[in-house]
Amino acid sequence: MISRAYTLPELPYDYSALEPQISAELLHLHHDKHHAAYVKGANETIERLQDAEKWQVPGLEQSLAFNLGGHYLHTLFWECLAPGGGQEIEGDLAAAIAQDFRSVENFRDIFIDALTTIQGSGWAVLGWEPLGQRLMIQQVKDHHGAHVVASQPIIVADGWEHAFYLDYRNEKDKWAEAFWQIADWDAAARRFATATSVQPAAEPAGAAER
Ligand code: MN
Repeated sequence: MISRAYTLPELPYDYSALEPQISAELLHLHHDKHHAAYVKGANETIERLQDAEKWQVPGLEQSLAFNLGGHYLHTLFWECLAPGGGQEIEGDLAAAIAQDFRSVENFRDIFIDALTTIQGSGWAVLGWEPLGQRLMIQQVKDHHGAHVVASQPIIVADGWEHAFYLDYRNEKDKWAEAFWQIADWDAAARRFATATSVQPAAEPAGAAER
């Protein structure tokens, strides 16, 4: 048994709280089966790494990034949804979106495009990149691939088939619309305020201009 083992967080709402956008059956499966599997996988991988005599154990690095990335993304994902979601995007986050994506409407189109065009399994992520002091949208392959290391996630949307197939079958665009209707932008604004208050590791680009 490892110390500080990861545990499956409880959902911040009831299983039926996100209906009709996400059915209770789908949310139950997604949280209790899929998310739980990543928690188990992360703990098992760390246990094997602690038992190993060398770090370079084939496959374990990948397993750690995959399972712990999956645990983190799902934990954040539940916080990105709320029964009262779909609010207007306001304040500093709206201003930053307008600066980096021209308008909130344009941002919405690009984000939904990113979610629906993922090939295979992955996530659409809106992240804050501290060196450039900018928001960027990324398509993260699986749970960890092609992620900009410095980027701090503000909103994440699950594009894996297990996230929508039970309710939306092959119509991923309908899942993307449903996600938008319950995305919690108040929580996103709080994460944005936290992310932008952190001192970057290096002088931000363009700092001399300010
Ligand atoms: Mn998922």
